[in-house]
Amino acid sequence: MQQARLIVQEIVQEIEKRVFEQPPDQTLGKLFADKKREIEDRIALDFSRGIPHARVARIRELLGNACLEYLDQNGFGPFARKGKERIERVYRHLACIAEMYRYYEAEAAHFAHRNACLEKIKTELIEAQISHVDEVEQLEKQLQSTAMLVRLVLEPFEQALSDIMAFLQATQLEVFLFDDDRFLAQELKTDGHTFIYNKGEESLPSLPEAVSELQLNEVKETMLNVPLSVENRHIGHFRITRQTTEAFDQEAWKREVTIITPVLGRILEAYRNSHETKKVYIDDLTQLYNKRKLNDQMGKLFKQFKRGDKQLFIAMMDIDRFKSLNDKYGHPVGDEILRQTAAIIKEMVPYAYRYGGEEFAAIFYGYTLEETIGAVEKLRIRIEQTPYSINGQDFHITISAGIAEFETNMNSVMDAIDQADQALYASKEDGRNRTTYFADVKDRLSEDASRLRQEMLQLRDEMDKIHAENKRLAEQLKKTKKSA
Ligand code: GH3
Ligand code: MG
Ligand code: MG
Repeated sequence: MQQARLIVQEIVQEIEKRVFEQPPDQTLGKLFADKKREIEDRIALDFSRGIPHARVARIRELLGNACLEYLDQNGFGPFARKGKERIERVYRHLACIAEMYRYYEAEAAHFAHRNACLEKIKTELIEAQISHVDEVEQLEKQLQSTAMLVRLVLEPFEQALSDIMAFLQATQLEVFLFDDDRFLAQELKTDGHTFIYNKGEESLPSLPEAVSELQLNEVKETMLNVPLSVENRHIGHFRITRQTTEAFDQEAWKREVTIITPVLGRILEAYRNSHETKKVYIDDLTQLYNKRKLNDQMGKLFKQFKRGDKQLFIAMMDIDRFKSLNDKYGHPVGDEILRQTAAIIKEMVPYAYRYGGEEFAAIFYGYTLEETIGAVEKLRIRIEQTPYSINGQDFHITISAGIAEFETNMNSVMDAIDQADQALYASKEDGRNRTTYFADVKDRLSEDASRLRQEMLQLRDEMDKIHAENKRLAEQLKKTKKSA
């Protein structure tokens, strides 16, 4: 910018040098000297046959009558007889002066016109350059603000908000967004340094700093409420506050806030999304992924598995006799055992989830059957051998596991999960603290299942009989009451 201004200045100086500072005796002086000689020659020719009347008229015009009368009275009249030559010389000289005067007058007018033209050109040039400079300045400002907006989007959330507040010279920013039920909730309140999330209006103001003397604080504030939209969705609004200083230009501030608003909307929504995703997908107690995440990931992995040639296994794991631990030592101890077990699982298998209660799941993609069983067994043994230290007391637990392999002809992920569950059930049945592969116990399980179904059917028949008997008894009772 500075440079453009310098260039304009240089151009102007150059014009001025060329036009207004021409050395007079080199150009104009010579020009006039030539002209003078030319006039003298012409006049000499004119006077060769006496003093011409026309010349006398011009002299009169220039010097006035009084001057000629004076010459007349002193024997220098144009047509006096005496001293003819001397008189002619005086008139010739006067005629030259008159002619030169006319010439100079014309030249002066011409130069004045030329100067005026140049002055105009100079002004136009300066104006054009200045408007160009303004344009460049405007463009530069736009570029800067675009760069800033990009930077804000890429920055960590709280840093971006601090930068926005610094840019807008704001003292406070409050964000209100619609929650899932379309209620407006206060999400955030910040001064750019301290961030308070989800505290609502009832949040206590932070305590003031200790002061040692009287302090008077007269603060005039300007507050702006701005709606927030992302891709035409109204997501809430924010309230921004700044001090109203003397130099504060309200309109300029509003414009700046307007530039920032779309970016702020995006930053807030991105932040909330990542925040909610974390809440939805992560189990609070163990910090493992939850069942929802397992379902989501399995869905994608199952499709990939069907197209590719890698094997895919799932293991379901359950803590043995966890209920009695809970009953004996209390829920908090149970929770701590869950936490420590989760930490071991997380460390030992690549994809682990808390499936619910004291059940965990793990996925093995690109593993062979042996590798999968090996990994689960290693985990099971590690848990069996790890003393859990809780409140100075050592606990030992074991887990049972069931493994199933995904097959390309399976309809859903649930088929494999169901098989792994059945294998887990077999582990429990066989005495716990062991790993079972579904295919190894499939036949036995289906025998168990058909036996179980048989038992269920018998039970249902018995229930039906009992129902019928109850009904009969109730009716008999009614009859007895009536007749009584
Ligand atoms: P099994 O060896 O057959 O699995 O026996 P179990 O006692 O572990 O089986 P069951 O499924 O009957 O018991 C599971 C218990 O886990 C029931 C419930 O009280 C407890 N539980 C589930 N979730 C939690 C939890 O988050 N914290 C605590 N402390 N206990 C939980
Ligand atoms: Mg259990
Ligand atoms: Mg269980």
